[in-house]
Amino acid sequence: MIEQTTGIVFDPVFLKHDQPSHPENAKRLESILTGLKESGLYQKVEPIKSRRAEIKEISFCHTKEYINYVNEFCEKGGGHLDPDTYANEYSFDAASMAVGSSIDLTKSVINGDLKNGFALLRPPGHHALANRSMGFCLFGNISIAAKAALQNPKIGKVAIVDFDVHHGNGTQALIGDNPNILFISTHQYPFYPGTGSIGEIGSGQAEGTIINIPLEAGVGDHSFKIVYEEIMLPALRRFNPDILLISAGFDAHWDDPLANLNLTLTGFNRISRALIKLADEICSGKIIFFLEGGYNLDVLRNGVINTTKGLIGIESFDDTLGQLNILEPNINKLINELHQIHKL
Ligand SMILES: [Zn+2]
Repeated sequence: MIEQTTGIVFDPVFLKHDQPSHPENAKRLESILTGLKESGLYQKVEPIKSRRAEIKEISFCHTKEYINYVNEFCEKGGGHLDPDTYANEYSFDAASMAVGSSIDLTKSVINGDLKNGFALLRPPGHHALANRSMGFCLFGNISIAAKAALQNPKIGKVAIVDFDVHHGNGTQALIGDNPNILFISTHQYPFYPGTGSIGEIGSGQAEGTIINIPLEAGVGDHSFKIVYEEIMLPALRRFNPDILLISAGFDAHWDDPLANLNLTLTGFNRISRALIKLADEICSGKIIFFLEGGYNLDVLRNGVINTTKGLIGIESFDDTLGQLNILEPNINKLINELHQIHKL
């Protein structure tokens, strides 16, 4: 039997979408790549051939008017698409390369050509809406990949887990009320972008396929362990998806400059491994991580290295930054409410 490998998405154009003074800049991905190469992991994964998405693929989630607008905006040299989100002459190219390559990675994992994968892409995607950019995001990479996956007859259901510190409002909006996509997000709340309350659960036939787990500032490893054991893993087992897609942001770390949750690299490692293990249990190991946020370069680099080791099957991991010794808020009330709302 041929040993399956872990696929990665990367293209040099992702580094050309850049504004050095902005927290979401090219150094983030450069730091990750350097880390993977120096640790010898880059030699153990298989970079897939990248390609630009066709307009019709981006239109799985975005309006043609918006796609054309971004294209023309970038052709004219770029600027700010909204107060938070910049674009330059390369950004449309980078964003469509991110989408096209993510679709192909997903396809390869579904077909069994690759074991699992990590889409090391920029710009990120989980805040992008159908007709506008938002929160550093141009196109909803993971939502488009989820919809593309559902076109494959082998895939009846897709689950998306979002552990970025910010609510994946874009993903929640773009997947719409599709009962075949489960979306579960853990995020700091109340916080940017303002959505993601516990009561947002989807509607119509899709009621219950959105699970928002809003966490107050200060929540860290201990509470995440409870969230995963009590809510995340049981909900994923019940939904029983054919593939697991993960919005992997590393900004819920205690040392991230933009947010206030308290995960450690050890906590992130536990989360990634739990999801990889669950994928083995319920969907033949089919799991793909998609890079979202994370603005401390050490956290980002080590977080991705540890996750990649998990995907390859290497047990060791490094927590170079340690923990903050603070008392976490008690989340029992939240867990009880989630149990009630989602009948878990
Ligand atoms: Zn984020």
